[in-house]
Amino acid sequence: MTEPTRTHAEPLSKADALEALETIPHPLTGRGLVSSGAVRQAAACDGVVTVTLRVGGLPPTTAAGLARVAETTIRAHAERRGSPVSALTVQTAPEPAESAGSGAAQGPGAAGGREVSLPVSGATPGAPGGRAPAAPSTPQATAPILPGVGRVIAVGAGKGGVGKSTVAVNLAVGLARRGHAVGLLDCDVYGPSLPTMLGLSGHQTNVLAGMLQPFPVHGVKAMTIGKLVDPEKPLIWRGPMAQSAFKQLVDQTQWGELDYLILDLPPGTGDVALTMAQMLRLAGAVIVCTPQRVAQDDAVRALRMFQQLQVEVLGVVENMSYFVADDISPPRTYDLFGRGGAQMMAQRTGVPYLGAIPLTVALRRNSDEGTPLHNFAAGTPLAEALESLVTNLLGQAALAAMRTDGAAPTLTIR
Ligand code: ADP
Repeated sequence: MTEPTRTHAEPLSKADALEALETIPHPLTGRGLVSSGAVRQAAACDGVVTVTLRVGGLPPTTAAGLARVAETTIRAHAERRGSPVSALTVQTAPEPAESAGSGAAQGPGAAGGREVSLPVSGATPGAPGGRAPAAPSTPQATAPILPGVGRVIAVGAGKGGVGKSTVAVNLAVGLARRGHAVGLLDCDVYGPSLPTMLGLSGHQTNVLAGMLQPFPVHGVKAMTIGKLVDPEKPLIWRGPMAQSAFKQLVDQTQWGELDYLILDLPPGTGDVALTMAQMLRLAGAVIVCTPQRVAQDDAVRALRMFQQLQVEVLGVVENMSYFVADDISPPRTYDLFGRGGAQMMAQRTGVPYLGAIPLTVALRRNSDEGTPLHNFAAGTPLAEALESLVTNLLGQAALAAMRTDGAAPTLTIR
């Protein structure tokens, strides 16, 4: 049930402002800004709201981004409650948040040491079209570039089982089929699927000079936590362990030169995404969602998380959009879950819609058998859907690069 709008518009109170601030994860602790001790002062009187955030220890661009997020979150909160705000000021103070000070060394902010040790400027050798790395115009820009890697794209989902790994695998293979150099990293430390989906059971993990060698399969270079742990043992990676596993996979895999690195994230809005956003400069994120209303709600939470981490959402993919019964001729299509739901969610939230993937026996079988290239068999509705998805992703990634690089689009008329 939606919250009733107030009949008499009461101005936003201090408690309301604090409630809004608590929904924002602190970049170092991952907890709300209030419980992280990052709110130094908040006051509200007759619609005039002032807030001071403790931002010591954060890179300047992250601090500025946090202040912007605080401002938009408070305004959105006020609008939802029907509470007028006549003036809003969010200031920053150089002191560290109370619970992020010394503890930050163990938290995701521990990546901070790397932020200065890796090259943040200069050309990225593997970048498509030899473009320069994104200009430091967004808070994410303080995150380091992975040397030799062009565009890093994260694939996330609000919850498990919606086909996030399936989409990550097929986007990677689809990009590689078009001639791009592609890496695929399974960061789903809670339930890695790539060993099965890529058919890695016969492959041995290879370490050269202390660096993990990715598996060259189906035209992509793949690495997965699933090959580094005993598959029979339950994965009880939690918090910092999951984060450090992610860091090691990113740091200690010898990717070589890549145009694209696709990350298959753990489901939900957990610590790994936060670590990722601080460790790696991303070209953007793709959200996978099934059409049902409940799935959309989870996906919106993931979408907001990326936005708060200053990672651009390149688009939403509707997986299991409709079922194709291809054992009858002509094949019949059934709308099992309410086709178009994820597309509507994309429109509602103002992010691009990348396309739909049907629920098919072939896709499930090829994933179980580790033969993703079979999904691209010419002339099938599945292949058409996947090709269109790859095309749309390439388009959105190029547009995002133009926005961050500040480059003007060029129009060539022949
Ligand atoms: P997630 O990564 O979100 O947990 P997976 O990609 O592992 O989800 O998919 C869960 C299961 O559903 C897998 O067995 C996968 O093969 C199957 N699956 C996903 N999408 C489809 C689809 N469009 N058609 C058929 N099976 C699918």
